[in-house]
Amino acid sequence: MNTTPTRGQVEITAVRKSFGGTEVLKGVSLTVPPGGVAVIVGPSGSGKSTLLRTINHLEKVDGGYITIDGQLVGYEVRGNKLHELREKDILKQRTDIGMVFQNFNLFPHLTALENVAEAPVVALRPDGRQRRSKAEARERALELLDRVGLKDRAHAYPRQLSGGQQQRVAIARALALDPKILLFDEPTSALDPELVNEVLDVIRELATSGTTLIIVTHEMGFARDVADTVVFMDQGQIVEQGRPEEIFSNPREPRTRTFFSKVI
Ligand code: ADP
Ligand code: MG
Repeated sequence: MNTTPTRGQVEITAVRKSFGGTEVLKGVSLTVPPGGVAVIVGPSGSGKSTLLRTINHLEKVDGGYITIDGQLVGYEVRGNKLHELREKDILKQRTDIGMVFQNFNLFPHLTALENVAEAPVVALRPDGRQRRSKAEARERALELLDRVGLKDRAHAYPRQLSGGQQQRVAIARALALDPKILLFDEPTSALDPELVNEVLDVIRELATSGTTLIIVTHEMGFARDVADTVVFMDQGQIVEQGRPEEIFSNPREPRTRTFFSKVI
């Protein structure tokens, strides 16, 4: 796409989150511009998944806030006060955000095509557009399956597909609502090594398409290729972030250096 992306600006400001008495996000701030690609890396337990989940309303924040194109996530300002959005409005906001999980999370009783076509028929449109008709959703789903290289597997059930194919269906499904933002939480961690690249290639293509991507991964070569910004998290904080060529070859912080020396 040659036009400059105009939607999908994510601003995370001083976000805090605790579970029980333990603070797992300790004031995280991150900006991803429209069409930007941020790759989050860091040790297990550092809060990467929790951060993604706060963007997608799967976790409420305890402090700070997140906006998408200037709109508060999960809240609205009425009078001078912040009010939590109602369930219906949260569902609407979530249609702007696609998420791809480590374990695919496809519906086992639906075909690939049905998995992709289901969401647009069921979801409310945030901008007041009609829900798509079944025929439209199906046509769009076929286009998306074609985009991830699986048009010929449209009628297969998840159990008949390899892990890499299932994950590509999950990506097509995440695209079905034309999201502003796509979140990936370790999309290749559950795959056999020989299936990793077919999924990374699909994400590589998306990275140039103008959709904002936030990707948690341990695939450092991939991060180097696609990221505009690599974000290193440790113990609930962003320790360091920068362009891949900077952060990989010249990390400033000792913790970043130690982490990269183990994983690269
Ligand atoms: P990462 O994705 O970087 O491995 P997570 O965000 O999954 O890290 O977890 C960060 C910390 O929060 C971990 O210590 C984890 O055990 C804890 N945690 C995550 N989700 C929950 C939860 N729902 N309840 C309690 N603790 C949680
Ligand atoms: Mg995680």
